[in-house]
Amino acid sequence: MSDHRAVGGEWRQRAAAEIGQVTSLFPRRPNAKVPWDDIIKLDLHSVRRAARCLRAADPEDEYEESARNARRRVGLAVLARMREDGIDPVAAFTSVLDDRNRLLQERLVGWIDGLGAGGRAALAAEVVTWVAALAAWSPLAQLGHRDADVLLEGSLDWDVPDRAVKVRAPADVLAPRGVRPAERRLLVVAANLAEAELVAGHVALGYTLSRASAPSQVAVLAPASGAARFTVDDDLLGAALERLTAAAASAVAARMGPQATATPGWWCQRCALRDECAESAAWRAAHPVRFGGLRADLVRGGAHDRT
Ligand code: SF4
Repeated sequence: MSDHRAVGGEWRQRAAAEIGQVTSLFPRRPNAKVPWDDIIKLDLHSVRRAARCLRAADPEDEYEESARNARRRVGLAVLARMREDGIDPVAAFTSVLDDRNRLLQERLVGWIDGLGAGGRAALAAEVVTWVAALAAWSPLAQLGHRDADVLLEGSLDWDVPDRAVKVRAPADVLAPRGVRPAERRLLVVAANLAEAELVAGHVALGYTLSRASAPSQVAVLAPASGAARFTVDDDLLGAALERLTAAAASAVAARMGPQATATPGWWCQRCALRDECAESAAWRAAHPVRFGGLRADLVRGGAHDRT
C-alpha cells in the first residue's frame, strides 16, 4: 500500500457505505451522547458468531464479566506497566490493581472490587499467564518499551457515521514506533491458530477505520499453538469487511427480522436459540456426540445422565 492515509480514507468510506446500508433502521439520534442506548456493537465476538451462523446473533446476549473475559483488559495495563518499569507480571498485576481506579474502566473496577479472594486469584492466574505469553513473544520481546505502543481498551473503536453502530477491534500492541506508519505492525493474541486469519482481518480493519491509516502487517500469537503473520492488503481487509457487514446484518435481523439463515455446527451448543432451532436439531440428529466411541443415546442413561 503506497499512501496509507488515502487507503485508510477509502476503507472508511467503503465501510460507512456497506455497513450503513444494512443498518439504515438504526440511525444515530441527533445530539445523542456517546455511548448512547441501543447501540449495535460489531466486535470480534459478533463477527466470529456471524462467521459461524448468521442467525445466532441475540440482542439479549448480555456481556458477562468473568476472569477470562477480563484478562485482556487488565492484561494490557499490566503489560504496559511491566515493560515501563521492568518488573515481572506478578508485581505488575499488583501494581495495576493498586492503581485500578485511574487505569481501568469504572464497570471493570466495580467487578474487581466485588471479587472474593478466590476470584482475585483466578483473575491473577488468567492475567499473568496471558501477559507472560505476550511479553515473551519475539516480535515484542526484542523491542524496548519505548518502541512499542500497548493499545489499551477501546483505543480502536470507530463509530459508523450517522448510525447507532460501533466497530470494536481488539489489537493488543502496535510496533515498532518511529517508523513510517505503513511499516507498522499490529501484534494480537488469538485463542487458536484456526481463527488467526479472522482475527488478523478484524484488527487490521478496525485499526484502518479508527485511525484512517492502514498498518502493514498483523502478527497473531495463539499461546500453546503457534503464531502466524498476515500482510495487510485489499484481500485481507475486503474479507474482514464482508464478515463485519454480515455481522451487522445478523444483528439487525435478530432485532427486526426477517430471520437470517441458520448454519448449524458444533457452535450450536453455546447458542441461546438452540432449544427452539429446528436446523440445529436436525444437525445434531445427524451428528451424534460420541463418548469414547459410543453414541450418547446408546450409553446407559443417554447424554443427560448425570449420575
Ligand atoms: S442453534 Fe445453531 S443453527 Fe440454530 S441459530 Fe443457533 S448457532 Fe444457528
